[in-house]
Amino acid sequence: MQKEFDLIIIGGGQSALACGYFLRRTGLDYLIVDDKQACGGSWPQTWESLTLFSPSQFSSLPGFLMPASAGEYPSRDEAIAYLCAYEQRYDLPIRRDVRVTSVSREEDVFVIQTISGEQLKAKAVISATGTWQKPFIPEVPGREAFKGVQMHSAEYKNSTVFEGKKVLIVGEGNTGAQLLAEVSKVAQTLWSTHEQPEFLPDDVDGRVLFDLATAKYEAEKQGKPFHASQYHLGNIVMTPAVKEARSRDVYQSKGLVSKIEESAITWENGDREEVDAILWCTGFGFATDHLSELVPADARGRISTENTGCKDVPGLWLVGYGGWTGFASATLIGVGRSARQTVKDIVEYLKDLKSSQENNR
Ligand code: FAD
Repeated sequence: MQKEFDLIIIGGGQSALACGYFLRRTGLDYLIVDDKQACGGSWPQTWESLTLFSPSQFSSLPGFLMPASAGEYPSRDEAIAYLCAYEQRYDLPIRRDVRVTSVSREEDVFVIQTISGEQLKAKAVISATGTWQKPFIPEVPGREAFKGVQMHSAEYKNSTVFEGKKVLIVGEGNTGAQLLAEVSKVAQTLWSTHEQPEFLPDDVDGRVLFDLATAKYEAEKQGKPFHASQYHLGNIVMTPAVKEARSRDVYQSKGLVSKIEESAITWENGDREEVDAILWCTGFGFATDHLSELVPADARGRISTENTGCKDVPGLWLVGYGGWTGFASATLIGVGRSARQTVKDIVEYLKDLKSSQENNR
């Protein structure tokens, strides 16, 4: 008979590792499957110069602090090394190069189909597949007609491809601000944003956003009103690179683009400009396609949840996708809280499942 795990976690990034940490003492028979060949989740896909926006002690998973970084903020490579060390330290059961294509349910058992044709079975499933595989680009008329270089931030590695070009950078978040800082050193840049970008003061960093999310979470939990502070979660963190770019006066947004042609864009105010390249820093959806047979999702892949539990499918949890799966759950420091509660809920669920199966015998 085919082995039936208590739990399978789909995705082997930081969210899965945090769940693994809390699973160690539960005695559950579980497995993590990940489609990559190396450790680090999606971090190895990010651009080479990326630094985190909080110091290492505020960028840690449960139980094991990220070691002090060489610079003020950990680099992408330091984050990857930390995640690889984390999974080794706790000897987490991860099988790599396993891509899950679909999940279905046969009575109380989940059947997890992989791209190689192998099927895995489990009583419970955590989906922790992140956002990186779902880059989002807004509909702008004429986008397909553009003949120059066009890429999403998910594909960006370094500025070489933009050298000497005139580049439109779209997006007012931290990614837009950071890539504008880098690309503007080698290219002429234009910035398109929806809202006027808001920068955090120079003397605070990403921690303030985490503190803000915590205050909101605590207020909501206690049913108290949350008074918005002067900051909000979309504020741009003044990393050293962003500060340097500000001194070159590159952060001048020209608003939204209303039309794209083969080699030009038109701004909402009617001005038309030739451009050689477009870099979309417009965020991500959620990588939940593998669950589409099991449960409906909205256009961006969001599934209806209560905390991290799927509302429509008992036995299915979603961890690490952002606010809808637990506050600050898409961050290194925030996902621990979601992971702890999820593991607790799964232990309860499996206990109840076992007793109801025994009663039915
Ligand atoms: P991922 O890291 O994406 O891991 C998911 C894993 O699942 C991947 O290995 C993926 O390949 C795999 N997978 C996906 N689909 C399947 C499938 N069908 N079958 C099998 N495997 C699958 N957070 C911070 O705390 N601090 C920061 O400074 C910070 N900076 C950021 C900067 C950028 C530009 C971005 C995009 C994010 C940043 N984050 C930061 C957020 C956060 O760290 C990431 O969102 C994080 O990668 C989420 O972890 P995860 O484990 O949920 O997903």
